[in-house]
Amino acid sequence: MTASVMASAHASGVRLIRFLYCDNGGVVRGKATHISALEARLHSGIGLTVAMQAMNAFDQLQRVEGMGPVGEIRLMPDPSTFVVLPYAPHTAALLVDLCTQEGEPWGACPRSFLKRVTQQAADMGLMFRASIENEFSLITPVDAPLDPTLCFSTAGMLAAQAVIDDLFAWLEAQGIIPEQYYPELAHGQHEISVQHAPLVAAADRQILVRETIRAAAHAHGLRASLAPKPFLDQAGNGGHIHISAWTTDGRNAFWDGSQPLGLSAMGRQFIAGILEHLPAVLALTTPSVNSYQRLQPNTWSSGFRCWGPDNREAPVRVASPYRHDLAGTINLEFKPADLSSNPYLALGALVVAGLDGIRRGLDPGEPVMINPADMPEAERSARGITPLPRSLDEALDALERDQLLLDALGPALATSYLAVRRSEAAACADLSPEEIARRHRFIY
Ligand code: GLU
Ligand code: MG
Repeated sequence: MTASVMASAHASGVRLIRFLYCDNGGVVRGKATHISALEARLHSGIGLTVAMQAMNAFDQLQRVEGMGPVGEIRLMPDPSTFVVLPYAPHTAALLVDLCTQEGEPWGACPRSFLKRVTQQAADMGLMFRASIENEFSLITPVDAPLDPTLCFSTAGMLAAQAVIDDLFAWLEAQGIIPEQYYPELAHGQHEISVQHAPLVAAADRQILVRETIRAAAHAHGLRASLAPKPFLDQAGNGGHIHISAWTTDGRNAFWDGSQPLGLSAMGRQFIAGILEHLPAVLALTTPSVNSYQRLQPNTWSSGFRCWGPDNREAPVRVASPYRHDLAGTINLEFKPADLSSNPYLALGALVVAGLDGIRRGLDPGEPVMINPADMPEAERSARGITPLPRSLDEALDALERDQLLLDALGPALATSYLAVRRSEAAACADLSPEEIARRHRFIY
């Protein structure tokens, strides 16, 4: 593998290779090596201070035990992720695990957490596939949305077509197959989706997609905001997660044609697990202060704990399968997720919660067929359709109480994650809503 990375790096004329990871604050960070040292770095990684998993999204370093100024971890590349970056001259990238000096996964490594979750699923005979929808806003140098066009409008397509063409070309060049594109509701808002993949590959791919979106905007003198709510008077940017489960013999485990909605008993249990752990899961899928400016009822981002078929106000939507391949295409869409999340943590949290539902044989109750915000309050509470957390601190409180998720994260990741995200909430406590949105606009 090392030899093939070296050969591709030389053949493509690469000079610099970025070692990329996503941190507890949801920020993609990295270091780069010159090609002359690549072979050595493929074996031993690049050193990084242990403190970086205690850094929040405003670059404020938190006090976390074992993550102070003394000590190093290694950014250990996964050679199978080597990719030449079509938007950066003579540059390639590798996704990395955060490892100890001995080369073992470090306790606070998000990518290693997702690998452990993948193994948990495999132990239950399941392989998950996922993809994240990317809504983002194109913003001009004077901090205004690129276009004031209408939802799905061709005028919106026209306004952004040069950016989108580069974006699609660059995704293709990285071996990422794009699926759909359209202008979304908010001014300057656009959406792309890409093909689904097994969990770790899906998260790796998501990092590259985020990088490519920002690069495409940059190439046209614009900036892309992947923040959940860049402008308070406009629709937010979701990062809806689509997920499906597959058996070892290649069957979609969420499909059962004999059941209502074609949804298998296991699919129902998986949904029930997500709903059971939902407030804590949100601490990992909608994990920024800005996330709670987006997450409101009646904004199609979901506001109440429930599920339903093609219900775009439900946190879990059973997406209609395609009629040419019902069994192969049924999947769940999880809406309270956004791009301020770390994709390794977000996907891992969702699967941990869902697997718990399967193990315990939980029942999700009846699907909700209307906008839950339109349901009389008495009916909502009788059916356990509770409002989602209204703030990051509320979600973090739920995570602190959720032993299943804390155990899955492990102490180093759980402690550093909570410290980092709590500090972001504290940093925003006295800011106006406008200032909160502004500060988050270009972090992710
Ligand atoms: N922009 C909406 C959100 O914040 C989603 C709109 C849609 O794609 O249904 O999640
Ligand atoms: Mg959308």
